[in-house]
Amino acid sequence: MTNQEILAQFGPREAMEYDVVVVGGGPGGLATAIRLKQLAAAKGTEISVVVLEKGSEPGAHTLSGAIMDPIALNELFPNWKELGAPLNQPVTGDIFLMTSETGATRTPNMLLPACFHNHGNYIVSLGAVVRWMAQQAENLGVEIFPGFAAAEVLYNDDGSVKGVATGNLGIGKDGEPTENFQLGMELHAKYTIFAEGSRGHLGKQLIANFKLDADGMLRVPTGPGLGINLNAGLASYEWHLVPIVLSEIPSTSAISCCVNPPK
Ligand SMILES: Cc1cc2nc3c(=O)[nH]c(=O)nc-3n(C[C@H](O)[C@H](O)[C@H](O)COP(=O)(O)OP(=O)(O)OC[C@H]3O[C@@H](n4cnc5c(N)ncnc54)[C@H](O)[C@@H]3O)c2cc1C
Repeated sequence: MTNQEILAQFGPREAMEYDVVVVGGGPGGLATAIRLKQLAAAKGTEISVVVLEKGSEPGAHTLSGAIMDPIALNELFPNWKELGAPLNQPVTGDIFLMTSETGATRTPNMLLPACFHNHGNYIVSLGAVVRWMAQQAENLGVEIFPGFAAAEVLYNDDGSVKGVATGNLGIGKDGEPTENFQLGMELHAKYTIFAEGSRGHLGKQLIANFKLDADGMLRVPTGPGLGINLNAGLASYEWHLVPIVLSEIPSTSAISCCVNPPK
């Protein structure tokens, strides 16, 4: 059955109204939700913010090992240490290696550009950081729906984004509803923020619908109703420099970039 046929037979979907719907409970989506709640509280107003996360819990779909610059966290929660943020291991040194088939040569740190100096950063489990952020978001009154993937962008008659619909559950491999079938639900919002990470499938739909990549350039219109997380994702390094960040804990997460082997 097509989605249209399912809707015709089992619809209409239940709809919930929010001020803001955030698609994706990663660092970007959660930081957005937290900041909105903080700003509303500072103005003495109440806004309803919901985060949809397709993983079984926030952090479940987060690649964990990361070197984290705490600059954004300092802005979001200046007291993150007291709040127990899981940034426990500061970087204690950097080693930058130029590799070849037979060995490696160390590049003196003084020749490295600033972006390769990691002092002041932390080696973290990003999954743990995300779980902690989700707790802080909930403490501020953000609703988090784990296990719900936004499957469809909904549009108003004027073409603006109305919200999203979650996917139907209990569809068999043959595309037919099973006995566990559950119709997806609609989440309508004044603002819908797409924070589904790099190459999200709703982001691709939005880029196509609003022609954001006309002329080969990704354009994000200003104005309400649409936000897109512009995350390039995994960079493909063609060069053979291996930065290694030292911590007191020997760990594979200490290697911050994977590089293509020399040809
Ligand atoms: C291999 C690798 C190593 C990295 N190393 C580092 C590092 O050392 N230091 C560093 O600072 N950064 C690092 N990054 C980058 C960092 O992981 C990202 O910048 C960061 O995770 C981006 O956060 P985000 O919230 O935008 O997206 P994501 O972390 O991708 O989160 C998106 C969330 O949205 C959810 N989602 C997606 N689609 C939907 C949907 N339709 N409905 C509901 N939920 C949805 C996903 O399950 C996910 O939880 C690395 C990235 C990779 C891939």
